[in-house]
Amino acid sequence: MDIVKALRDLIGDKAVLDAADTATRSAGVWRPDNLQAAALARPASTEEVSKVLAWCHANAVGVVAQGGLTGLVHGADATADQVILSLERMRNIEEINPVQRTATVEAGVTLQALQEAVEEHALMFPLDLGARGTATLGGNAATNAGGNRVIRYGMMRDMVLGLEAVLADGTVVSSLNHLIKNNAGYDLRQLFIGSEGTLGVITRLVLRLREQPSARNMALVGLETFDKVAAFLKHMDHSLGGTLSAFEAMWQSFYQLVTSPPANGKPPIAQDYPFYVLVESQGADRELDTQRFNNAMEAAYENGLIVDAAISQSESDCEAFWSLRDDVEQVLHHGFPIIFDISLPIGEMEAYTTNLKTSLAETIGEHNLYIFGHLGDGNLHVNVAVKAEDYQRLRPVVEQLVYAPLAAFQGSVSAEHGIGLEKKPYLDVSRSANELALMRSLKQALDPGNILNPGKVV
Ligand code: ZN
Repeated sequence: MDIVKALRDLIGDKAVLDAADTATRSAGVWRPDNLQAAALARPASTEEVSKVLAWCHANAVGVVAQGGLTGLVHGADATADQVILSLERMRNIEEINPVQRTATVEAGVTLQALQEAVEEHALMFPLDLGARGTATLGGNAATNAGGNRVIRYGMMRDMVLGLEAVLADGTVVSSLNHLIKNNAGYDLRQLFIGSEGTLGVITRLVLRLREQPSARNMALVGLETFDKVAAFLKHMDHSLGGTLSAFEAMWQSFYQLVTSPPANGKPPIAQDYPFYVLVESQGADRELDTQRFNNAMEAAYENGLIVDAAISQSESDCEAFWSLRDDVEQVLHHGFPIIFDISLPIGEMEAYTTNLKTSLAETIGEHNLYIFGHLGDGNLHVNVAVKAEDYQRLRPVVEQLVYAPLAAFQGSVSAEHGIGLEKKPYLDVSRSANELALMRSLKQALDPGNILNPGKVV
């Protein structure tokens, strides 16, 4: 069976790369290797996506849909006998409607391209994450991306009003709803959002836009105990009356890492507090918002919730604060990092992390532990850096130490990165047998031939 020839007959010669050309492409920003696949199809329309899938379905060929390849859990890995479906030629922003406050886009549009396009209408698309320039909206939807402002606007699934997806057999399901409220039957879009390409290929999206905030205030804060971190979150959310837009926590070792050489960042406050928080408020009135933000900070200081703070005086201060939090690549300088993305109830975080520190020290000996994350969402990024030569041996040991206690704390093995291949063995830590059985029934119903991203998630 000549897969390349068959696909070229369907969507054109230039739209299909053979195995050799595919192998010249990088497998993604976090990966040292190149892509491998029998062919890489680059359809230019939903109709062409449908043709490719129908052919693969009829010929039992596995298909891996790829967005910007910025994922961290091997969710878009392909093998030499599979077809990669890239949506890179589907990059049209079809409509921005300032009255309805929606954008209709093709799945290959990057997050940043949409953010910039809606800015011209004084609107905002609130999803935001470090990979914005490369990550695509189709990929953001397929993985239900999270990021920095979930506390205010929710995850990607909260920003998608409608979508169009192509099923395994090529059937196009167009569900391009523009309404905020639409209870006419099952919510089909949510079947595909977060399914990581295993139930259908998302080709177009209707996204909900928001009014653009015109003022922001930020502070970087030092705190003495975790209880005070949790209390400070409640205090700020309560005092800011709905304008809280980010609440990011950094444990001491991470703060020291991003504010010491070789990192470029300078410490805005002393480096010896156990916990740090980056708090952001977005509003529409510079004077009133600043007054309210400063009042809230003052009260937190007087009540003994915080011991030290640097408060932004300008947009460039805000950017400098964010660049500290975003400088996660520094974890590469002190060992080989094993990266985790877990969720926990906020009340359980201290017990969990204290427990993890002890178990790591007892089991693997010398290592560096860096914890930071979207604390307001209950999402921590735990990085365990070990010596490069120990990485392969220690990785499963560390995974066990991080994941196994999560069930007792009612946590999740994936907050925002997804399952892919990497976390598949641990899915049952966070999901019951009946939940997993229902997931398999859905997979069987939508993709009976198991051609869509086979082997991933369930
Ligand atoms: Zn994150």
